Amino acid sequence: MGEQWAFYFDANKCIGCHACTVACKNQNDLDPESATWRRVVQSGQGEFPDYEEISVSISCMHCEDPPCETVCPTGAIEKRDSDGIVTVNRDKCIGCHYCAWSCPYGAPKFDGDNKMQKCHMCLGKGAGEGYGSPAKKHEDDGGEKPACVDTCVGGALKAGPMDELTKEATEDAVNRATKRKGNVIIETGGPTVTFESESD
Ligand code: SF4
Ligand code: SF4
Ligand code: SF4
Repeated sequence: MGEQWAFYFDANKCIGCHACTVACKNQNDLDPESATWRRVVQSGQGEFPDYEEISVSISCMHCEDPPCETVCPTGAIEKRDSDGIVTVNRDKCIGCHYCAWSCPYGAPKFDGDNKMQKCHMCLGKGAGEGYGSPAKKHEDDGGEKPACVDTCVGGALKAGPMDELTKEATEDAVNRATKRKGNVIIETGGPTVTFESESD
């Protein structure tokens, strides 16, 4: 495979403003009241007064070996060789929701036409616009930053090839990303982070 693109999220810089969620909805013309491809969740541990809570911004993890791709009966989901980004060919989707049931992170969403939609790392604009798009480019090659990254006021969110992002991450964060087999590196500096699925 070519490069594996990934997200890097630093909870120490996140101010929990949800600008990333809003930017994603704007970029992809998503209904403000429904499908959310990127969400900000709270993670906490301990008991008052020794209680810590952090905000974590998550979307599709573009998994190493995506269970959504394995269960899709029509082959609509593809983990691309060129950049490891997981895309959906919505022309092939039959709306069976198998992908949603198999995804541990609640990433696949369904809205209006009942076809799967989720983060495509801003390969294109709009649901399904990742499929068939050219490989993700670096900014200095003329590529654009994903909208959520571009809008993050705290500078908490980044995107790029995994091997570049791991160079700036702590060992703990890289270990967590490797264990989860999702291509998202999360710096916590605090509580252990777990994610809960979110219903549509
Ligand atoms: S996070 Fe879910 S939707 Fe995204 S690649 Fe992994 S299994 Fe598929
Ligand atoms: S809902 Fe669509 S993308 Fe998801 S498993 Fe079914 S056919 Fe595949
Ligand atoms: S990369 Fe693009 S599609 Fe993915 S969560 Fe960010 S704004 Fe949304």
